[in-house]
Amino acid sequence: MQAISVQQPWAFAIARGGKTVSNQGLPTAYRGPLLVHASMRVDLKACDSPLIQAAGWDPRDPLATIGAVIAVADLAHVCSAGAPGGPCDCGPWSERGAHHYHLANVRALPRPIVALGRPGVWEPKPGLVTEVNAMFAAATAAKATAAANQPS
Ligand SMILES: [Zn+2]
Repeated sequence: MQAISVQQPWAFAIARGGKTVSNQGLPTAYRGPLLVHASMRVDLKACDSPLIQAAGWDPRDPLATIGAVIAVADLAHVCSAGAPGGPCDCGPWSERGAHHYHLANVRALPRPIVALGRPGVWEPKPGLVTEVNAMFAAATAAKATAAANQPS
């Protein structure tokens, strides 16, 4: 398991808004599960952008927080064609001059988990990974209980 820190409101757009490309300054050879961490800094200009509005940006949503893990995704592949400014097919979320991390199977956390982030790709502490997994397991168990208690 690795993690990336992303500024709000972009992190929210990944967790809730179908943003499947994260623009990063450096490439990575890592593929696999990735914690999506909302960093302490906010991209204030982006909050009014049409992309973010279309993604359903809601500052009152618990996952609009900063300094916390808010989702898990699978890092499926990385496109580096756009980094030198070249064209690519990574869609509206991709920016020129960045490496495009393609995220699949995004799972928003039921609640944010406060954590310190770092720039780029970083390795989360085992305790943090355990906490994320426990939260998903509890949510799944709660859902199963609710389904079992449904009147037929
Ligand atoms: Zn690309």
